[in-house]
Amino acid sequence: MNKEINILGAGISGLACAIILRKNGYDVNIYEKRKSTGTRFNSDWQAIENWSEDTDAIDEIRSIGIDTSFKCVPLCELNLHYSDKIRNLSGDNACYMVKRGTDSDCLDTCLLEQAKALGVNIHYGTIPEEDVPIHIVATGPVKGNILAKGIKFSTKKADAYHMALGSEIAKGFYSYLLIKDGEGTIATVFDNKNVLDSEKYLQNTIDCFSEYIDQEDIISGHKFGGYGYFEVRENMYNEDGAMLIGEAGGLQDYLWGFGMRYAFQSANLAVRSIMTGESYDELVKANLHQKLKHSKRNRKLFEMLGPLAYPLAYHLFDRSKDPMRFLNRVYR
Ligand SMILES: Cc1cc2nc3c(=O)[nH]c(=O)nc-3n(C[C@H](O)[C@H](O)[C@H](O)COP(=O)(O)OP(=O)(O)OC[C@H]3O[C@@H](n4cnc5c(N)ncnc54)[C@H](O)[C@@H]3O)c2cc1C
Repeated sequence: MNKEINILGAGISGLACAIILRKNGYDVNIYEKRKSTGTRFNSDWQAIENWSEDTDAIDEIRSIGIDTSFKCVPLCELNLHYSDKIRNLSGDNACYMVKRGTDSDCLDTCLLEQAKALGVNIHYGTIPEEDVPIHIVATGPVKGNILAKGIKFSTKKADAYHMALGSEIAKGFYSYLLIKDGEGTIATVFDNKNVLDSEKYLQNTIDCFSEYIDQEDIISGHKFGGYGYFEVRENMYNEDGAMLIGEAGGLQDYLWGFGMRYAFQSANLAVRSIMTGESYDELVKANLHQKLKHSKRNRKLFEMLGPLAYPLAYHLFDRSKDPMRFLNRVYR
């Protein structure tokens, strides 16, 4: 492989890949179709999960050479709602809340600054010429089998961390309310079969969390929406031989839609493949396939259980003495 690498997409996986490559002496060009990085998001809170591996997620990101000075809040407590029940779950650093978007403390901006400081050439609003060989495709979700709709808002309300289960608020998935330092995100996640009910799910989610929010804040907030793409692929290259990383390769958690960890992990595997000549396919199969397949199995199980799925999920969390361990087992 030559020492110049061209990447399509300046999101998390593309930028992470570029940073690691530059640190290893490669020249890197990124072609991003939008005018800047992070515009797919609205400075809303997302969470990097910390249960699918034994390694701490932030340590893992640092270990591949990424500076983690973005705003990052360990979540050690979460109120789980189902029907009229609430269970307070606690566990060490169950996940890390990060902001996604264009603000200076967002994960996306932090990665962008690192890439620029290292000398990555980023071409915004550009499609590469036909004769430019693309080595890595990091263009995010191809289509949506997981959908999300929410509102990002400012508030004087106290910090709050809530997740709710129920087919009237988030069919097949869950809703969440995260407030930290006056910045709030309320959202519903649901499957693509129920797109026509998205407004209803969002309104029901707002009603479900009404005692923790101020309606005025919600009205003056910014709506956002998006989708996630899951697929277990046997072939992780596109028809032109470029490696598919992040959600471009379907690397996503099909149970709950936590794709960020996969974005970093696959970026690192792509660099390893470039540097060592190992097959990227084989690296993904050895390192990520088991987790992906478990998330697919969990999703199928959830769907098979139908109306029993939510009460059972709540019951299992409610009975669990160690919710983190329980989650870890679900993903193994
Ligand atoms: C509302 C919402 C909430 C989420 N919450 C969570 C969460 O809490 N935890 C979690 O782990 N994950 C969450 N996710 C998923 C997570 O955001 C993604 O898994 C992650 O961003 C995937 O990274 P990526 O690099 O593959 O894609 P992205 O970060 O989306 O980056 C892709 C980039 O490629 C660019 N691009 C697209 N097409 C082209 C093209 N043809 N040419 C050039 N550039 C192109 C895009 O503009 C974008 O900048 C959420 C997703 C959404 C939509």
